[in-house]
Amino acid sequence: MKTKKSQKIFKNSQALLVGGVNSPVRAFGSVGGVPLVIKKGRGVQVYDEDGNGYIDFVNSWGALILGHGHPSVVGAIQKAAPLGTSFGAPTQAEYLLAKEIKKAFPSIQKIRLVNSGTEATQSAIRLARGFTQREKILKFSGCYHGHTDSLLVKAGSGGATFGIPTSQGIPGALAEKTRVIEFNNEEELRAILVQEGKEIAAVIIEPVAANMGVVLPKKNFLKKLKQLCKTSGTLLIFDEVITGFRLALGGAQGVYGIKPDLTCLGKIIGGGLPVGAYGGRKDVMNHLSPLGGVYQAGTLSGNPLAMAAGLATLRELFQKGIYEKLRVKTKYFCEALQEIIQKTESPCQLNWTTGMFTLFFNSSKVIDFKSAMLSDTQAFAHFFHAMLQKGIYLPPSQFEANFISLSHSKKDLDYTLECMRCYFYERG
Ligand SMILES: *Cc1c(COP(=O)(O)O)cnc(C)c1O
Repeated sequence: MKTKKSQKIFKNSQALLVGGVNSPVRAFGSVGGVPLVIKKGRGVQVYDEDGNGYIDFVNSWGALILGHGHPSVVGAIQKAAPLGTSFGAPTQAEYLLAKEIKKAFPSIQKIRLVNSGTEATQSAIRLARGFTQREKILKFSGCYHGHTDSLLVKAGSGGATFGIPTSQGIPGALAEKTRVIEFNNEEELRAILVQEGKEIAAVIIEPVAANMGVVLPKKNFLKKLKQLCKTSGTLLIFDEVITGFRLALGGAQGVYGIKPDLTCLGKIIGGGLPVGAYGGRKDVMNHLSPLGGVYQAGTLSGNPLAMAAGLATLRELFQKGIYEKLRVKTKYFCEALQEIIQKTESPCQLNWTTGMFTLFFNSSKVIDFKSAMLSDTQAFAHFFHAMLQKGIYLPPSQFEANFISLSHSKKDLDYTLECMRCYFYERG
């Protein structure tokens, strides 16, 4: 496989961009080697600068549920661009996108659009603190909510990849206000909310965790969480930046039947352009400026190109049977992969839900951050590079979700399974 051009471009980038990247995990730090420098994407495939094609399981970290360059999305951007790229004033497009989101998420009575998932979670936390007049927040170990200061404490994702559970540069006084407990641990949750609940403004959670790899909530865990929050007057924030419009139209809250007070969205709702959103209870949202005393603003918020891409994506997703299709694809792939692991007695755990999965190189079940961290990251790195050689582009870290999009055909999935089958049989 030729990689000369990619290597040269990346080398130049390293001299100027920190680590050669604009987001850490892209640097292949934990798997080694030189990252692909991507030139273009079409459907299920991405192509690097040397012209190699790969079946993509990164999909812009879940944003591209329709695959690359979907005609509806590209068409919508092309139609919007000549009319102007930014106004910093109200437009109809932002109302239309908000309306589609609300249609899918009954818990969202009012909404604010921003430019990234980080902005959404950061603003939701500020709003919760302003609304409750409390300062503490509670999060779960291994859940990633973007890179805002209060939430970079024991956050998964890139932090887990690089062994930096808590970032430097977070003031101690702020980190102290962030309480962290283990995902899926009901006793810990009950203890902390009974003891300190009245001081805790909000609990923020990925209802299905995807940033320590995919980890599903135990039965009734989210329900207990909701009850405990209600008792202590703590707001419940679902960070559905990944799960929103992926597990189902109504996200994880629809699947598990839980109504959070606030919801954060991102990734899919921008159709590959930078968009985030937070919304929820009207009485809480009305505390935002210009109606209330919590300030949050954005020059490019509601950007017309981003709105067009998001709206085109959501309109595709509202078509009948789309999520059933995605569920069937994922089930087909994951059941076959599970069989390969079992037959070869490979020390692996496969966690999956609609549209995403993680194969942990781990001999015990992965139910939280602690168990995820027992994974053999070297074994993963070996597997990752073997797949890359076969033209399969997986997220370059053990602690990330692999995304199956609507553009993955049975042929793509069968080819991937065949490569994985060979890998595990040859090693086993
Ligand atoms: C990606 C992600 C974020 C941050 O979104 P950005 O757009 O990268 O800022 C927040 N929460 C979750 C669950 C995410 O997966």
